[in-house]
Amino acid sequence: MKTFRCVCGNRLYFENTDCLQCGRKLGFLPGPLALAALEPAGKDRWTVLTPPDQGPHRFCRNSGDLDGCNWMIPVDEPEPYCLACRLNQVIPNLSKPGNRSLWIRIEKRKRRLVYDLRRLALPVIPKRSPEDEAGLAFAFLEDDPGELEFSDAHQSNHILTGHAHGLITINIAEADDLERERRRHELNEQQRTLLGHFRHESGHYYWDRLVAGGPLQDRIRAVFGDEREDYGEALSRYYRDGPRPDWQDGHVSAYASAHPWEDWAECWAHWLQITDTLETSVAIGLAAAEVLDGDVDERISHWVDLALKINLINRSLDQPDPYPFVLTTPVIDKLRLVEEVIRNSAFSP
Ligand SMILES: [Zn+2]
Ligand SMILES: [Zn+2]
Ligand SMILES: [Zn+2]
Repeated sequence: MKTFRCVCGNRLYFENTDCLQCGRKLGFLPGPLALAALEPAGKDRWTVLTPPDQGPHRFCRNSGDLDGCNWMIPVDEPEPYCLACRLNQVIPNLSKPGNRSLWIRIEKRKRRLVYDLRRLALPVIPKRSPEDEAGLAFAFLEDDPGELEFSDAHQSNHILTGHAHGLITINIAEADDLERERRRHELNEQQRTLLGHFRHESGHYYWDRLVAGGPLQDRIRAVFGDEREDYGEALSRYYRDGPRPDWQDGHVSAYASAHPWEDWAECWAHWLQITDTLETSVAIGLAAAEVLDGDVDERISHWVDLALKINLINRSLDQPDPYPFVLTTPVIDKLRLVEEVIRNSAFSP
């Protein structure tokens, strides 16, 4: 991600709502992907001091007391919610203790995802109705333990994080660090993060939008495998028997070996993670700006070098490797295809 500066020169985080140095109010503008320093200009109206040439803006309805969003909307747009919050179909019950802090964490990751997607010029179009399969929406749901004793364990009171027909469901328990770590352990995963869930599920959504029936489908099938293999059966087999013993040869994670769709979603998530971290490394002076314009192989080799350094620094701090993955040649071939799909989508209507 880029880094941002206030008009006073202070370096800012993407999530900031106030400058701690000059006290100015801050808000994020999803159009120019910039964190703006603001000056009040009347009720619900703010003048943008930086970046230049922006009209007056107001805050998203989830800002203020809700503390759920720092994004803005141009005043001449009628929408009450910002681009990121417009995607919400269901949010947790905020009157229930604990839910509000989980929701705020979830919203932070969702805005990072939307930033990722817009930076890559991917379409982010809110779903208008259940029938609208082209649009994207989110449902942030919680398990309903109150009903567990009345039904068998396989019924739907366990919310599964997943994607279907443009709707991405996130179980809000994944925003609880202890619970997520417990699940990571139980499922024997190398990495399990909240933003990783968003990136992975968005991969399923963009498969439907950009791969299925598209010009690259045959090439993707040749590299990732045939996605017409029964999905439910493949997942049951994965959870029953574990990953294929040779998964490390051709897959970025064990779970990626469960089914070609999961392989795609895992590679997609990795590509978003790689490109975002490379952008950050340029923004903080760890890499030259040309890295971002390099071809896919140059970017991957920069990433392999950077990931090694990040892991080494973390080992010095006695922390686990933040990137505990090996990019084998078959995995790099898959990442190239993800990059090609994303690059092509920027030129499609
Ligand atoms: Zn400032
Ligand atoms: Zn918002
Ligand atoms: Zn998946």
